[in-house]
Amino acid sequence: MEMSGFSAIIPLAYLASAVLFILGIKRLSHPDTAAGGNRLAAIGMLLAVIATLLESGLEYTWIIAGVAIGGLIGGIMARTVKMTAMPEMVAVFNGFGGAASGLVAVGEYLRVGGSETLAIDSGVSIMAGTLIGAVTFSGSMIAFGKLQGFVTGNAISNPLVKFSAGLLLGFAVVLAVYLVGFESNLVFYWCLIAAALILGVLFVIPIGGADMPVVVALLNSYSGLAAASAGFVLENNALIISGALVGASGLILTGIMCRAMNRSLANVLFSAFGTGAATAGRAADGDRVATPIEAEDSAMVLGYASQVIFVPGYGLAVAQAQHRVRELADLLTERGVSVRYCVHPVAGRMPGHMNVLLAEANVPYEQLCEPEDVNPDMENIDVAVVVGANDVVNPLARDDPQSPIGGMPIIETDRAKTCIVIKRSLSVGYAGIDNPLFYLRNNRMFFGDASDALARITEEVKQL
Ligand code: NDP
Repeated sequence: MEMSGFSAIIPLAYLASAVLFILGIKRLSHPDTAAGGNRLAAIGMLLAVIATLLESGLEYTWIIAGVAIGGLIGGIMARTVKMTAMPEMVAVFNGFGGAASGLVAVGEYLRVGGSETLAIDSGVSIMAGTLIGAVTFSGSMIAFGKLQGFVTGNAISNPLVKFSAGLLLGFAVVLAVYLVGFESNLVFYWCLIAAALILGVLFVIPIGGADMPVVVALLNSYSGLAAASAGFVLENNALIISGALVGASGLILTGIMCRAMNRSLANVLFSAFGTGAATAGRAADGDRVATPIEAEDSAMVLGYASQVIFVPGYGLAVAQAQHRVRELADLLTERGVSVRYCVHPVAGRMPGHMNVLLAEANVPYEQLCEPEDVNPDMENIDVAVVVGANDVVNPLARDDPQSPIGGMPIIETDRAKTCIVIKRSLSVGYAGIDNPLFYLRNNRMFFGDASDALARITEEVKQL
């Protein structure tokens, strides 16, 4: 359908949507304005979609079919996904974003590349889109498998993996240069796609244990770069800008995740965290005793404390205990206890995981704090309640440089006057390593599901 009458306003609509994206992202940087920022960005996206649909020469039947099928699948997934499976879903969405952008590049190559030599500008965009899109897709699928447990969480790395990855990258770049600079060749192009897909696998396979947050953030950034490349392929400014924004914000997030683990990006990507015996988890040690605590005693300690911090972790998400923790915190606050929630940047299974859950429970923002806010003053904290967290409070990170998580900043609840860890057993967390915190004299273990445990403690506090 020809709609060229709109051609003048389409660029303006793209510009407006880009401005809305930027304002939206700006507002995402503070919890108070984040929901509004999300809405602004969504309006921007709607505007961009409408403007794109007004482009001339579109085949609407395919678009409507795609929107209907994709919308249905997405809608069902969003409605039925368990909160604990959100990280996996984000990984899959990153991968599909990469695949979609890669397919745009493939479509364009098949349209122009088969018959003629590629122009340098569109050729570079097509090759970049293909390469980054394919790497993002297969890498995200492996990340999904690792989060889901299909693929071993441990790093699979040996010199052969690194050598093969280097070789494949070189091979893919040589093919891309040949296809753009010399001649179009469909067989070479399929080889490039295959090399990029294998490269994505080899890129994520060597990264294991607690380093996955960095990979999730980096793949998110790649999906943005793939979208920006698709934008160049289609000469669509809105896609270029939004892809670049996702790429840049993903990179910033990657930086934050690296800092949270005190590791450089190169170190994460190439040092194969989590290999070898060091990661073999031990649930309990025969010589050491972890002291249990029950609801009544927990309530006594908490009810008469003056400073309490809650440290949420992945188990909070599993138990969906965010409302329960808020209920207990509110009760303590009413009793005059100073309560804060200390959130570690890599707690849970996706960046911002704990913040999302606590926001869902309407936890007051002023009660949220970061490890560096509480660690210097930890000796004055009467009770640190660790709710389903493990790796982010593991003192080995601080005390044993040889440990797989050596050097990762932690929330030092072991230095609080009393620490209560709520979890179901003494078993390990994501990184698969034992946690000496559980056996310290000032630590008590509250064994049970986090939601259940918090409810029982809350009932006891009410009786005080
Ligand atoms: P961990 O994975 O270290 O530990 C979570 C603990 O929760 C487990 O030890 C488990 O113990 C407990 N748990 C599970 N279910 C329940 C339940 N129903 N009630 C109570 N406890 C429960 O979590 P952390 O948040 O401390 O650390 C996150 C880890 O995940 C880090 O290693 C991080 O690097 C990694 N990671 C983070 C990502 C991110 O982007 N944030 C992405 C990918 C990985 P038990 O079975 O005994 O109950």
